[in-house]
Amino acid sequence: MKDTELSIIENEGARAFFTTRATRAFERREALSVQSGTFGGAVIWPHLVHGTDIAVIGREQLGKGTVIFEDHDGAVTDVPGIALTVTCGDCLPIYAWDPARRAAGLVHAGWRGTLAGIAAELVYTMQREYGSRPEDLQVRIGPGIDACCFEVKEDCYGQFLDKYPWAEGYMYARPDGSFTLDLKGINLEILSLCGVEDAQASPLCTCCEEELFYSWRGRKEKDRMLACIYIKGSPRGEGAGFKPALAVSACLAGEACRYDGKPKLFAGLAELSRRYHLVPVCPERLGGLPTPRNASEIRDGRVLMKAADTSLLAGMPEEDQRKAEEGSLIDVTKEYEEGASLALAKALAFGAVKALLKSRSPSCGAGSVYDGSFRGTLAAGDGVFASLLRKKGFTIFTEEDPVKDI
Ligand code: SF4
Ligand SMILES: [Zn+2]
Repeated sequence: MKDTELSIIENEGARAFFTTRATRAFERREALSVQSGTFGGAVIWPHLVHGTDIAVIGREQLGKGTVIFEDHDGAVTDVPGIALTVTCGDCLPIYAWDPARRAAGLVHAGWRGTLAGIAAELVYTMQREYGSRPEDLQVRIGPGIDACCFEVKEDCYGQFLDKYPWAEGYMYARPDGSFTLDLKGINLEILSLCGVEDAQASPLCTCCEEELFYSWRGRKEKDRMLACIYIKGSPRGEGAGFKPALAVSACLAGEACRYDGKPKLFAGLAELSRRYHLVPVCPERLGGLPTPRNASEIRDGRVLMKAADTSLLAGMPEEDQRKAEEGSLIDVTKEYEEGASLALAKALAFGAVKALLKSRSPSCGAGSVYDGSFRGTLAAGDGVFASLLRKKGFTIFTEEDPVKDI
């Protein structure tokens, strides 16, 4: 099996890695979120804009699952268990670890970020926030696109020379008049000018190494690699008030979202909320179904909903009632599946790995659900949402389990 990630920094204090083609950035980030949820950490996800804003992450983010920072190109933290991430196509990840102050940072540098000085900004931010000394920092750059492949236009060339006259040594003219740029070299130079003594760049070019990496410039691939750094150690116990997340069928949490427009409040909810951060989700509502709505049941893997109020048929011969009912069934599998994946995304965003689900529902039911005859009879099986959670490795409870076991 191919390595799913390359180790960038690995010591007693921190770990940093960069994923390969063998895994996809969003899947790896999802796994990190689940992992962080079990011990109360968090995953930081800056939405990159090729600028120089760096988020400072403190304990207030603990237990929040995946936290998005719009318009930031990196983050720093001194809190163990917080995973800083950025996605990279060909752009460079720049990782920093300060073993003296036990602080970490990670930024994303394309040519614009490099030109704007994000590497220097990373060093300054760690100095300002944690008192880091540049000479203590271990900085690692890449993998990312190299001078062999990184062709730039003349205006880019000019902008670098205007800002960094020394950058000429990192740009190479090609016989056809175009230029290539050594982004790693320029960032190493900037770091050295900031006083960083231990900075190294990966020799791997994401564009050349087709077998190892996705590449936007080289092959217009939309998938990305995930760069990540975290400080080792668990925040549990240090961060007062941390509770792991528990996804809960919203009707059990008191929301009036059931098909009949009523809640089904779970008696043990108060106790659970002392132990868990509750994340209520109603997959059927998330799938766009109205409340109240007609009853649905699963038959042969499809979710069927009664489209009409069949109580009006009472009094008709049973055979005729059945025919009329059958004719009124509509297939709502798509709505159920969409709702289930949205509810899963919400649960994962909070780092939940356990769920308390309403039994027998065609979405949330776990272990047994109504059999599709609309006669109140049960069959073994899971609802659409419960089945998805099981596939993702969630531990599932229902309102029929003793509270102390949840
Ligand atoms: S059982 Fe699930 S889908 Fe049904 S109302 Fe409750 S939360 Fe919503
Ligand atoms: Zn290359």
